[in-house]
Amino acid sequence: MRATRALIHLDNLRENITQIRERVSPQVKMCIAVKADAYGHGAVECARVAEECGADFLAIATVDEGIELRKAGIKTPLLMLSLCAPEEVKSAVENDITPLVFDEEYASYFNDACRSLGRKNYAVHLAVDTGMGRIGCLPEEASSVAKKIADFDFLTLGGMCTHFAVSDSLQKEDIEYTQKQFNLFKSAIESVRNEGINPGLCHCANSAATLNNPDMHLDMVRPGIIVYGYYADEVSKEFLEKNNISINLKPVMTFEADISAVRSFKKGHSIGYGRTWTAPCDTTIAVLSAGYADGLFRRFAASGIKVSVNKKACPIRGRICMDQCMIELPSGEENCRWERAVIFGDEDFGALQTADDVARLTGTISYEITCGISKRVPRIFLTSHTR
Ligand SMILES: *Cc1c(COP(=O)(O)O)cnc(C)c1O
Repeated sequence: MRATRALIHLDNLRENITQIRERVSPQVKMCIAVKADAYGHGAVECARVAEECGADFLAIATVDEGIELRKAGIKTPLLMLSLCAPEEVKSAVENDITPLVFDEEYASYFNDACRSLGRKNYAVHLAVDTGMGRIGCLPEEASSVAKKIADFDFLTLGGMCTHFAVSDSLQKEDIEYTQKQFNLFKSAIESVRNEGINPGLCHCANSAATLNNPDMHLDMVRPGIIVYGYYADEVSKEFLEKNNISINLKPVMTFEADISAVRSFKKGHSIGYGRTWTAPCDTTIAVLSAGYADGLFRRFAASGIKVSVNKKACPIRGRICMDQCMIELPSGEENCRWERAVIFGDEDFGALQTADDVARLTGTISYEITCGISKRVPRIFLTSHTR
């Protein structure tokens, strides 16, 4: 096994999904986001767990992600949240991928593909842009676009959705903005109904709204980051507890590297490229075979993140290299060659911080931390049986 790896705790994933399910009414469906290789956790394995937990949909971003899941035997309906290229549409239909559409041109590609593949009543979801400024028709255009979709010979309107821009913020103006988006979405749904068209499954709640806005669940919720055990920005554990929403999310990824060498240096020895750190006294440095090409980004070095060796905090020293980095060992830990150094993850596996903590310290969001763990880092899937 490579000295650097991401442990994926599938039990934690299952537990997170179960806890979210319990906070959503039984009649509300769940669409679990497994896009971007399940936020870096491994799409196929995470999709299998989500499927076993009764997910009604799995959300993907690209046709290739859908093909990967279908090849692995995933049968759950797939909702594609981004637009694909016209050349990919046929393959999307062949793999039963439900697209988001919001204009006649894009919808026509799906209609053409369905005609040529002999597919009838192919469900598409109408995306409405209520204030995200990304994909979607404007709310006032929703009924006319819905009508066009309904008029296509081979398509049917399977649902309507919108996406919130600031539902993870607790600023007063942001809360109002989310409410405004929700109201616009509801009026768009009404306008479609008034055309005599069934809007199908209506959905808008991402992770933050799933936990924080139960009134906005509608027919289906679309949680992503919370499934993987991280909080959605300001909708933190502390905030949720204050509002009597008790949920104990567990991180699904532990990123760790074996200590490949232990070095003793005299005072004055410099560490790494650019000589940014010089030992102020005699010291012991551990070398890890993990660097920025693994997702341990250079900006982590100065952030104050703590790498855990036997639950003792070790600072990163000098610059992080492409494939290696150096940490300073506390005294008493000199005999740790080949032991695990845990960068972030589950405290039961020795971590002192989660991807949420790393994100906070490095000025980003947990999404970017786990998605950043690169392809060369093997994902080791653990369940209680392998523990
Ligand atoms: C990624 C995404 C989600 C899930 O977002 P989280 O913040 O991870 O819950 C939901 N809906 C859409 C449209 C998305 O792109």
